[in-house]
This record gives sequence, C-alpha cells and structure tokens, in this order.
Amino acid sequence: MVIGVLKEKNYNRVALVPATFKKIEKLGCSAAVESGAGENAGFLDKEYEASGYVVKDRTKVLQESDVLVTIAPITDDEISLTKKSCLIISMYAPYQDETVVPALNKHPQGFVSMDMIPRTTLAQSMDVLSSMASLAGYKGVVKAAEHYGSMFPMMTTAAGTIPPTKVMILGAGVAGLQAIATAKRLGAVVEAFDTRAAAKEEVKSLGASFVEVEGAQDDRGAGGYAVQQSEEYLQKQRALVQEKALKSNIIIATAQVRGRKAPLLITEETIRSMKPGSVIVDLAASTGGNCAYTENKKIIKTHGITIVGDSDLADELSNVASTLFANNILNFLQICIKDGVLNLNEQNEIISSALISKF
Ligand code: NAD
Repeated sequence: MVIGVLKEKNYNRVALVPATFKKIEKLGCSAAVESGAGENAGFLDKEYEASGYVVKDRTKVLQESDVLVTIAPITDDEISLTKKSCLIISMYAPYQDETVVPALNKHPQGFVSMDMIPRTTLAQSMDVLSSMASLAGYKGVVKAAEHYGSMFPMMTTAAGTIPPTKVMILGAGVAGLQAIATAKRLGAVVEAFDTRAAAKEEVKSLGASFVEVEGAQDDRGAGGYAVQQSEEYLQKQRALVQEKALKSNIIIATAQVRGRKAPLLITEETIRSMKPGSVIVDLAASTGGNCAYTENKKIIKTHGITIVGDSDLADELSNVASTLFANNILNFLQICIKDGVLNLNEQNEIISSALISKF
C-alpha cells in the first residue's frame, strides 16, 4: 500500500516529512512524494529519497497512492485521477461549510478530515488543530514583538527605565495558552480572558492573571469547546476588554466558537481609545476576527494601532509545523492500517468522527 504526499499550492508546509518514513514502513506501507513537496519547509527531495520515499511527479502520486495526504483539499479534477479505493486525508473544516460533505459524497473515494478528530485525551496525539494552534500562539507573540516599538521585559539602563510590556490575551485555548507562555518568557506582564471555566486555573498556572466576566454559559458537555455566549454577556465583556485595552500595549486575540463567527471583543471605540503604538495580532481573523478592523491576511494601521489579521501563522513555522502535522497523521494512520491493510473500524470513535465521507 502506497501513502502519497503532494506539494501544497498555497502553503509552505508539507503533510509528511522524511523522518515519518520509519513509521510508514512499520505499518507495512511504502511512500511516494511529489517532487519539491517539502522545499518550502526545508525538506529537499534527496532527503525524502534517502529516508525511503519515492519521488514522483504530481500526476503519478495522485494515480498511484492508496492513501493520499494533503493539508489543503485537492480539487475535484484531481480527486478523479486517484484510485476509487483511495483514502484522501486533508483538512476539510466541514463545520464551517455545510456544502463540503455532500460534495465529497459524490466521489467513490473515502475522505478523512483531520480537523474532525475528537478533542479527547485518546486522540491528543492526532489533534492537528492543537498542534497548529500552539505554534500560531507562539508566532503571534513574536509577530507582535516585531511590530511593537518597545521591548517586553522591564529594563533599567543608564538612560532610563523601560517598563514591561502589558499583553492581553483574548481566548485562553491552545493558541492563547501558548501565547501567554511566550509573552511571559519574554518578560511581559500578561492577563487573559476566557469564557470556559477550566481556563482560569490554566491561565494562572502560567503566571498570568485571569480576567473574569460573570455570567458565562455553562460549557460542560461541549467536548472541550466554548459555547456561544449571550449578547448581554458579550456586551459586558466588551466593556471590560475596553477598560483593560487602555492599559495594554499588545493584544493577542484568539477567541473562537467552533462553527460560528468569532466574537467581536475589540470595538472601533476600543481601538480609538487605545495607546498609539499598540499592536493587535488577531488569530481569529479567518472566522471574522475579534477586532472590528481585522482583515484576514492583512496588516491594518489605524488610529496609531497596528492590527495583524492572520489565522495561519503556523505556516510561517513551516519546518516544525510540517513535522508536527506529519506526526499527527502517522498517529492517526496507526489506528487505521495494520500489516499494509487499511481497516476503517467505525466502532472507533476517532475514525468515525474523522471519516466525513465513506467509500
Ligand atoms: P478555539 O480555537 O475554538 O477557541 C479559542 C478560545 O477562545 C477557547 O479557549 C474559547 O473558550 C475561547 N473563547 C470563545 N469565546 C470567547 C469569548 N467571548 N471571550 C474569551 N474567550 C472566548 O479552542 P481551542 O483552543 O482549539 O480549544 C479550546 C479548549 O479545548 C482547550 O483549551 C482545551 O481545554 C480543549 N482541548 C482539549 C483537547 C484534548 O483533551 N485532547 C485538545 C484540544 C483542546
């Protein structure tokens, strides 16, 4: 059985890396990679070849693979080039677009969406959303530091004392917690908001202060995800965010509710009242953003504030992001393939959740 990997058209990342070959071999499989697939992530063809992959052109990888792995979904035309028995693994985000699954159902191939892996302890090693969010949280702080005209730690110099940077984190999920840890390591004073009850202890354990807005909806039973908050709650929260934003130099916005538009937490009025020179990095940009001025993949400068909208910062860490993604994929394949034979046992909750369209 051949596991194939293609060159991404819009990402620097690649879905499998040379080092994963050992695990592929243990599954009783061989592997094919499109020429140049890993170039933008620092993995050259010769490295793939030395590890055991066969380097081929795109069409051959599409036609000959039994399992095909990509980060962005391939087109319908390319799906029709693959074997009817091919299992195609990608990131389909069906919870964002309800036309995705019916469109895939028209094809005889099987489709797995890695972003549908349940967020349970058992599936943690396959959770691509967490791997990518954690890198984005780190990179978000680094990006904010690049745009900010001062430094994070307090420093006493002969020319004067520099105060520590104040960082506010909106949403203390996977990305937010990593952002807190990164900002703390750089010496900032950090505070964070979240609606989930469990977030409080996590924020505190990283040495940041937790800002609480009373009256959040109970999220137990939401599978680790946040639940939609009432407009009354969001209004209270926006007022408190504004109060805190006046004193902040940097805001890392990560608040999201799965399958919905991101909550608007930083209003135009808040932006107008913030200190000029402040920086907002909005990682929720692709679902509308937490800031009124956010535009995904754009840097906006308004009222002296820089707003970086980018939900795909993991792609800027393409080497490590590819390695983590590949590990997640291989951990998933380990529960689906034995001795070179694919067996999608739907009694397994991880497989049944991720398999969004069957053969
Ligand atoms: P996410 O990207 O969907 O959302 C980011 C954060 O925004 C969440 O913490 C959410 O509570 C928060 N949020 C939503 N509305 C908000 C608002 N109005 N104000 C402030 N914050 C708001 O979530 P995520 O980071 O992918 O995951 C969230 C949580 O899920 C994790 O922190 C963890 O507890 C759980 N999780 C568990 C596992 C596991 O057990 N394997 C894996 C991943 C995540």
